[in-house]
Amino acid sequence: MIIMKFGGTSIEDIDSVRRVVEIIHSRLDLCPVVVNSAMGKTTRKLLNIARLSAEGMDKEAARELDAIREYHVAMARGLTPDFKENNIRTALERYFEELQELLEGLSVLRELTPRSQDRILSYGELVATTIIASALRQRGIDARWLDARAFIITDERFTGARPVDDLTRLGIRRDVLPLVSSGCVPVIQGFIGSTRGGDTTTLGFEGSDLSASLVGAALDVSDIQIWKDVDGIMTADPSIFAGARTIKKISFEEASELTFFGAKILHPDTLEPARSKDIPVHIYNSRQPEGGGTLITASAKSGSNVITSIAYKRSVCIVSIVPDARANPAGFFRAVFDVLDREGITPSVMTTSNAGMVMAVSASESSKCVTDELSRLGTVNIFGEKGTISLVGENIRTARGLASLVFRNLDGINIDMVAHGASPISFTFVVNETDIPSVIARLHETFFKDPDPDLFGYPPPSLRKR
Ligand code: ASP
Ligand code: MG
Repeated sequence: MIIMKFGGTSIEDIDSVRRVVEIIHSRLDLCPVVVNSAMGKTTRKLLNIARLSAEGMDKEAARELDAIREYHVAMARGLTPDFKENNIRTALERYFEELQELLEGLSVLRELTPRSQDRILSYGELVATTIIASALRQRGIDARWLDARAFIITDERFTGARPVDDLTRLGIRRDVLPLVSSGCVPVIQGFIGSTRGGDTTTLGFEGSDLSASLVGAALDVSDIQIWKDVDGIMTADPSIFAGARTIKKISFEEASELTFFGAKILHPDTLEPARSKDIPVHIYNSRQPEGGGTLITASAKSGSNVITSIAYKRSVCIVSIVPDARANPAGFFRAVFDVLDREGITPSVMTTSNAGMVMAVSASESSKCVTDELSRLGTVNIFGEKGTISLVGENIRTARGLASLVFRNLDGINIDMVAHGASPISFTFVVNETDIPSVIARLHETFFKDPDPDLFGYPPPSLRKR
């Protein structure tokens, strides 16, 4: 049994859905369980419509809702020759009527609560899975649509809910296993769940990868496949460095370190369920299904290169706090950490001395540092327009002379802070935001001059075309 997850741009139009149906068809012998997120940019659009309704802009909301309805109906019609007779049409109509009623409610109340936001966003996934299941049946596959809210049971943190592990695991096994055993292909929504009381919740933006990992772990599958429209995890962000290469194999630890330091390929929590069961995760490109993609496992063997990938974050601020002369150092640190903890601030880099402490935080978090409490501890200064660069790789554990190799190649670049050693597999420093592309290009030159062919692919053709 395997999980195959598709969403967003990999199912954004009729052609891409057809491609996805063929990919699933070619793997039927592996007993796939399909997980889908919403099609194209539907989630963002639904959010926008909900906001418009809550502001009383009914006409605009109605117009946008029509556009979404037409987009999905056109897709269903194109994929289902007997659309009129087929009950997929009735199903879609019912969803869009429900949506309309919910939006009318918002416009009366003039308020978008997290609870109603989750309810509204869930339709993106409900509609997408309805269409995909029908497209699979057209291809002769016995696809069975399942409502994830029957078994992904979460807490009540709307817009960012987390699953209740045991209930969810048992529910998945109860509802999904019998279908697979009888030869069907279950089709399940990612991203959405339900509280014990039956209210719809979502796992947060990009949460459908986490759903795929949860379902995979509960079913003890042999492989979790996340199908995207990129060739996998790469040595650098291909949108700012055209020479980036696909990474063929990477460890769970490296992959989560990369997401922590800004790589956007996966939702940061995605890997945990898979890792806990030691289930390999593949990232594939649905536009190039024959490509090898990236394989994430517990023990990726390290090759001859010192690093595996370079991640970065933009919009970073440096916050420095210099304590009052009278402050006692231990009390000072405790007070600062209390504030960070309470405000939910996670610095990417932090250094301290008896003159104070400096940390790099995201620009949105930096405003939370401007509290009376911190100012009472000392003088707080914030410097914006920075970025972090992180080198990640298992081989960093044993690398010698890494820092000097990095800095030798960054002549003329202003480096603000350096963090080395806190994590055994990464090396992070702060630069001016505008220097990010050139720093990445120079480091890529240095570290991937001679890429280990077992671990790194060529820059993919899809990139070369761009
Ligand atoms: N559809 C949701 C979103 O756009 C979930 C996902 O795509 O993972 O964030
Ligand atoms: Mg998505």
